Amino acid sequence: MPIPDRALTDALTLAEELFARLRAASLDPPGVTRASYGEGEAAAHAIMAEAARGLGLEVTADAIGTLRMVLPGSDRGLPAVAIGSHLDSVPHGGNYDGAAGVVLGLATAAALIAAGRRPRRDLLILGIRAEEMCWFPAHYLGSRALLGLLPKQAPDTLRRVDTGRTLAEHMRDQGLDAKPIREGRALLRTDRIACFIEPHIEQGPVLVEEALPIGIVTGIRGSLRYPQAVVHGRHAHAGAVPRAFRRDAAMAGVALISALDARWAMLEAGGADLVCTAGILATDPAHHAPTKVPGLLRFSLDIRSLDAELLSEIDHWLKTEALRIGDARGVEFDFGPPTHAAPARMDAGLRDLLMRAAMAAGVPAKEMASGAGHDCATFAGVGLPSAMLFLRNRNGSHNPDEALDMPDVAAALAVLARMVAELLDQA
Ligand SMILES: [Zn+2]
Repeated sequence: MPIPDRALTDALTLAEELFARLRAASLDPPGVTRASYGEGEAAAHAIMAEAARGLGLEVTADAIGTLRMVLPGSDRGLPAVAIGSHLDSVPHGGNYDGAAGVVLGLATAAALIAAGRRPRRDLLILGIRAEEMCWFPAHYLGSRALLGLLPKQAPDTLRRVDTGRTLAEHMRDQGLDAKPIREGRALLRTDRIACFIEPHIEQGPVLVEEALPIGIVTGIRGSLRYPQAVVHGRHAHAGAVPRAFRRDAAMAGVALISALDARWAMLEAGGADLVCTAGILATDPAHHAPTKVPGLLRFSLDIRSLDAELLSEIDHWLKTEALRIGDARGVEFDFGPPTHAAPARMDAGLRDLLMRAAMAAGVPAKEMASGAGHDCATFAGVGLPSAMLFLRNRNGSHNPDEALDMPDVAAALAVLARMVAELLDQA
């Protein structure tokens, strides 16, 4: 049964107020700053908790600071439907990355309450900690901690990039406790959760370009990264050394990246989902000169795909190709330590339900992959049926110019509320 328009309008007013309060509380021109386990994030959690109490929800926070807001169902023995996202931001970021998901969760609860619905299952809204990797160098920190998946030493080895202090110290500042992480203990029982839904702004230009208010995510790309790769060659005089005697690190690095680009084009033409980036590419400023054959090149690789097998195939190909180029050019490739994030498929049933809700609500939508990582990947990774709803957003994300229009929030809310109302009443 659809939620009446009046209930959706009330909920939308709440969403607008929450966005304004979040912005005011974490303003750091240009943009907002809500550091992981820092002041701005804590302020955002307090605002959400207060709004949830105002709606009459059950509000608690666990030992690591995850905010849990529950609209109780009539049968509390049934696993809950969860909606959530993170409340931290990058420094001088936008107001919507992460926060939009929590605000939409609360707005959904508000719409159900205003419509006089008493759902069968609990609706659990999660305000997750520490998702933005720019603070602590670990992906999905808050959601992995919540599910007991973070390495046990993480609280004492991960240091916040801006302060140099450990995760445990920052947690203590917030009155929180790193003990469950040290014990590898999950704080959320996944058998008490039926599914996890994360609404999030789109971080690319697709919905704006295609004039669509929402996107339904098919999967979250996994990544293979080499952040600190190096090519070792030999510095030499640019004029005096013939080609045969050179060990040019820059030419060799560029040859590998160029071969990767050609392989990417070929795989993409064959229908593969793939994006490749060499974001860092630099000779050594202490030794380089226009008249010197560079003996060292630092580079990074970031390769993402929905297909885990393709990522490991490319990894193998890279090593083989580097050996071949190294032999031919007299250099050595050292890729350094890799990082891996597994791709996450979104649940087919939930995707279908979202698409049907969008059609019923008259909201145009398209299915699309998520190029960026999200907490939702952690939940999907432990086998929990998961889904993501993207909202149109101008100017990309992680910058002060993120722009989310309220009519698009209204469209997303109409779809989400309809879908969630159906899920909450399932036996
Ligand atoms: Zn985000």
